Amino acid sequence: MPSVLDNAMSLVCRTADFLDFQRRFHGLEIVERLRVPDKVIMFRATVQLDEGGVRVYQCYRIQHSDILGCYKGGIRFHPDVDLDEVKALALWMSLKTSLVGIPYGGAKGGITVDPKTLSVTELERLVRKYTSRLVNDIGPNIDIPAPDMGTGAREMAWIYDEYRKYRDVARGVVTGKPVALGGSLGRKEATGRGVVCAMLEAVNDLGLQDYRVAVQGFGNVGSHAALDLFERGIKVVAVSDITGAVCNPGGLNIPAMIKHRDRTGGIYGFADAQPIAMEELIAFDCEVLLPCAKENALTADNAGAVRAKLVAEGANGPTTPEADAILVKNGVLVVPDILANAGGVIVSYFEWVQNREGFYWEEADVNQRLFIRLKSAYARVRDFSTQRKISLREAAYCLALEKIVQAMVDRGVQ
Ligand code: GLU
Repeated sequence: MPSVLDNAMSLVCRTADFLDFQRRFHGLEIVERLRVPDKVIMFRATVQLDEGGVRVYQCYRIQHSDILGCYKGGIRFHPDVDLDEVKALALWMSLKTSLVGIPYGGAKGGITVDPKTLSVTELERLVRKYTSRLVNDIGPNIDIPAPDMGTGAREMAWIYDEYRKYRDVARGVVTGKPVALGGSLGRKEATGRGVVCAMLEAVNDLGLQDYRVAVQGFGNVGSHAALDLFERGIKVVAVSDITGAVCNPGGLNIPAMIKHRDRTGGIYGFADAQPIAMEELIAFDCEVLLPCAKENALTADNAGAVRAKLVAEGANGPTTPEADAILVKNGVLVVPDILANAGGVIVSYFEWVQNREGFYWEEADVNQRLFIRLKSAYARVRDFSTQRKISLREAAYCLALEKIVQAMVDRGVQ
């Protein structure tokens, strides 16, 4: 079975053919330069356990490309993290930052760990170890980490604090920090809000009315997207997370569901809903589906069962190429990950700007600027896809890659 990196690269190669890179940029080895990250950092971190003894963890930081600006991307803590996954995630960051026009390249970090198996003090030790090993490779003008699956403001605060022990105080070394430490208002909610913003643009294009939404994943992205929808009066009829899946055709009470999750650790057992089987979520009777969990949620096996007319990808890489082809064939409009979930890194950029300026914005300002950027990126992608008769995903890859390649050419070959 192809890895997520194979899947990501196969679309990069197809896009390079479509845009005729071989002929236009002969001898520049464009595809090879996109395939191989600038730098691969891998190490083991040994963490002392509270009860005595140690555990050893595999750690990664992949710096994919700094052609458009310093490296940028989150850090994932998950038991499935491996080299290929982090490489794919780093490549997607390069494409995402290029597409939405922020002055960064792409990177990603990860540790193969289930954070739930560590105490808070053990986790802090692991994050500090990870940071101290990367102190020469990260920095506000070098490589700026941020949260991803399994990490959040707390971990970013530890990174910031650890970095300060070795280098000058630099708040912009990491984004997604707690607000008290220079984090931006609206950063935590930004990815979910961005998914909804991109979704609303597509809803408008399709002319959908009275539509219902199903959300797969109820972590930082899925729960904030669902909450945003609820606050806009849009019905979220089904939600799933690792503990289970529930539905309420009349619309789920998302604030109550978030409370339930925070109290019990998941959505399983939420009172005001009927339980459904996990697999049913993808095929749920609704007009819009938001996959906000992990890679490979939509595969050749289940994509044919999707009943939604619109899919907006909150997760990175939730749709395999085979599933994507099935959705396109069935007339489902897919807003691709590098566009739909770019809200997080856009507000990370705003946080970095605010840290440099020492001038902090109101949340309404943050949101407004986020929506302006996302809407204009969406419009560029939609227009290019209409013009060239290709999918939104293909159009997004074209625009992102064209800009990266142009920068490679502009920078010369010496
Ligand atoms: N982890 C998020 C993503 O995949 C955010 C990255 C960032 O803010 O740098 O886009």
